[in-house]
Amino acid sequence: MNHVPVAIIGAGPAGLTLAHLLHLQGIESVVFESRTRQAVEETVRAGILEQGTLNLMRETGVGERMEREADHDEAIDIAINGENIRIPLTELTGHKVAIYPQHEYLKDFIAKRISDGGELLFETTVDSVENYQGDGPATITYTDADGTTHQLSADYVVAADGSSSPSRSLVTADGGIRARHEYPYAWFGILVEAPKTQKELIYATHPEGFALISTRTDTVQRYYLQCDPEDTPDMWPDDRIWEQLHLRADSPGITVSEGKIFDKAVLRFRSAVTEPMQKGRLFLAGDAAHTVPPTGAKGLNLAVADVSVLAPGLTRAIKRNDTGLLDDYSKLAVPRIWKAQHFSFWMSSMLHAVPGEDHFATQRRFAELRSVLDSEAGQRYLAEQYVGRDLPRFDY
Ligand SMILES: Cc1cc2nc3c(=O)[nH]c(=O)nc-3n(C[C@H](O)[C@H](O)[C@H](O)COP(=O)(O)OP(=O)(O)OC[C@H]3O[C@@H](n4cnc5c(N)ncnc54)[C@H](O)[C@@H]3O)c2cc1C
Repeated sequence: MNHVPVAIIGAGPAGLTLAHLLHLQGIESVVFESRTRQAVEETVRAGILEQGTLNLMRETGVGERMEREADHDEAIDIAINGENIRIPLTELTGHKVAIYPQHEYLKDFIAKRISDGGELLFETTVDSVENYQGDGPATITYTDADGTTHQLSADYVVAADGSSSPSRSLVTADGGIRARHEYPYAWFGILVEAPKTQKELIYATHPEGFALISTRTDTVQRYYLQCDPEDTPDMWPDDRIWEQLHLRADSPGITVSEGKIFDKAVLRFRSAVTEPMQKGRLFLAGDAAHTVPPTGAKGLNLAVADVSVLAPGLTRAIKRNDTGLLDDYSKLAVPRIWKAQHFSFWMSSMLHAVPGEDHFATQRRFAELRSVLDSEAGQRYLAEQYVGRDLPRFDY
């Protein structure tokens, strides 16, 4: 059986970032990814990178294209029933966010992994992880693109395999916790060939629900509308989409720009946190451990924060036989996750209409938002949470 110091399941933001950070410390890893490279590089998901994530890209030599192509935003708008209020993020916090799609982030890390000679196995699915609790190495069983099954031993295994991770139940067996929250709404997302409505994002709320006017490039935009979780794309013909986008997000001087819609999808909302995030030599990172609703734009950034603890932890354990930081991984990662969870929940509840909500509930929601936005301290709090905190930093 071949042996590797670190086996990583999943070539999403968590897995690829971790493999890169370990490589910079001279630690070898194998990344398993069940999808094709093309599928990974073309799936449209997150789009907002916090300052900490941007800094990590720059400082570790993966930021060149992002510097050239990302849209760096210094503000967001929040529209309450047609009244637009600007939050000057940079003025309030000193930080910016960048609009740089997740699949572009992944393209950059995949290219870097390949040019660094890293082992990145596409169309290769991990079937099981065993022996992760003893003193010896863990055993990974996996199936390659030809359908052949193999085994590999690894000193440490990181499950960065997304929200359906089977490894999660291994970690939570015998006393772990999986805390969840379901929301009575979802997002209907479209991609549209249109010019930008404006440079900055608009988070809009209206008695009929939420809309997000976000950007992708000069010619392609991403819009979301609050919808019922059971809705399907055929329930949203183009006319209905435009009528609802204008109703919810237009404000004096701002009209949502229209164009050809070329992608429609329903995005379910849920919150979940797994505690602890480790057992023996097996560690969970990113969506495998936690899911946040997209309102706070925290998912990708939390995945990067997790591996910012794991990378130095694994490096110390492998190079110096010092497992202190690795042993503390959950303790260090979980408080940040709950803060992001709270922010995403809070923003979601202020901006979305609960189905059947009455006049009292709508106006109370609007009043909560206005109370935050009318106050400089309130705006600063929201801005600080939105741009995110610096990533955890530990010596290697
Ligand atoms: C529509 C949408 C919009 C979003 N918007 C934002 C946003 O604006 N900002 C933000 O920060 N977050 C956002 N998110 C969340 C963000 O996309 C996720 O949090 C992020 O992808 C998590 O990264 P990850 O590496 O943990 O998992 P994933 O990206 O899910 O990667 C896991 C990988 O593991 C692979 N895999 C699974 N099982 C196996 C197996 N057995 N063997 C091998 N490989 C396996 C999968 O194919 C996948 O490629 C959004 C999500 C969606 C869906």
